[in-house]
Amino acid sequence: MSRRISILGATGSVGSATLDLISRAEPGAFEFAALTANANVAALAEIARVHRPEIAVIGDERLAGDLAEALAGTGIETAAGPEALIEAASRPVDYTMAAIVGSAGLRPAAAALQAGSILALANKECLVCAGDYFMELAETRGARILPVDSEHNAIFQAIYPGHEKHIRRIILTASGGPFRDWPVEKMSGVSRADALAHPVWSMGDKISIDSATLMNKGLEVIEACRLFRLPPAQVDVVVHRQSVIHGLVEYIDGSVLAQLGSPDMRIPIASTLAWPERMETPSEPLNLAALARLDFEAPDEIRFPALRIAREALLAGEGATSCLNAANEVAVEAFLAGRVGFLDIPGLVSDCLEAMDRKSMLPKRFAGIDDALNVDRRARDIVSQCMTGIPA
Ligand code: NAD
Ligand code: MG
Repeated sequence: MSRRISILGATGSVGSATLDLISRAEPGAFEFAALTANANVAALAEIARVHRPEIAVIGDERLAGDLAEALAGTGIETAAGPEALIEAASRPVDYTMAAIVGSAGLRPAAAALQAGSILALANKECLVCAGDYFMELAETRGARILPVDSEHNAIFQAIYPGHEKHIRRIILTASGGPFRDWPVEKMSGVSRADALAHPVWSMGDKISIDSATLMNKGLEVIEACRLFRLPPAQVDVVVHRQSVIHGLVEYIDGSVLAQLGSPDMRIPIASTLAWPERMETPSEPLNLAALARLDFEAPDEIRFPALRIAREALLAGEGATSCLNAANEVAVEAFLAGRVGFLDIPGLVSDCLEAMDRKSMLPKRFAGIDDALNVDRRARDIVSQCMTGIPA
């Protein structure tokens, strides 16, 4: 029987890896309700022609005509704009891959959960900005969130069912990013290309920069606390440069269960696509003898302050984590555009958090997704102000 699925953010790194797995599955194993993208009409049209979804949606409203033209005569419905993304995500499916980058993915992912779909969650921003809302929505709808982020997927796999109450702590591994061995003096001058050259993973631009600042690990600590309902003190991070162990769960008796695998996102994605079963992937099998060694070290919060800033935001609550995420999105975009330096990124995030805290604009908890998006909007304005030197 075929499974009906949608991919939100189908042209991105995670979206493409998902489509790659589906292309290798038995013909007819999957059928598509919706495929979506932000602005790349040609890429969306190309995958839509291959995978024949019911509807293809482009996020940028101005591109409605271009998409309709590109898919004319195919019988595939087309639509554009944020409301169309939500409508497409609400169509009944068995499984939705939420792989939009940034807080733009919140409403479409929530719509999929609301419709009762299994939510394969790559878009960690959902939990960082509105974790309580997403976890409660999944509970009330009886829908399941399956983590795609490799560390969280590893921990999900290593949690022995029924033993959640016996967890002492969980450990997220971090590759350390391209600057793990750089002295801080050298880090002020890093270029866009240096920062995008991740030593292990091949990913979209935004998360590659976050991996270089270690903000990605900060966002992942927040994601883990909300997803596994653990207090911050029970979520640790260790730098493990080979990225072969993705996550570990330590139980109260001292047993530690881990998930290992080649650093290939198709492995965690496949575990969600086939869940609760397993499926084959073309990933390189792990060759431990060839690897010979696995290294571990504590993260350096002096050279990489983003991890500390994210932990502080986590303790402050949902307003702060939403603000952290939005300010970081804007700062990363500015770095990629050459408008700010690499070391300015954590500084801008920290300034924005302070400014919003002074104005009492960071509630501990949100009543719903609108509150999260309001803080997100305000943080974007404030961090933009900070970048132009206007006091926020
Ligand atoms: P990407 O930039 O490669 O792709 C993002 C996708 O989202 C694209 O299809 C793009 O068209 C779409 N998109 C971007 N902005 C949008 C908007 N405003 N409205 C609608 N659609 C929009 O990103 P990625 O690396 O695939 O990451 C996707 C998500 O998965 C992120 O949240 C990231 O943190 C998470 N993630 C990625 C990886 C990875 O290996 N790439 C690993 C773990 C988690
Ligand atoms: Mg990750």
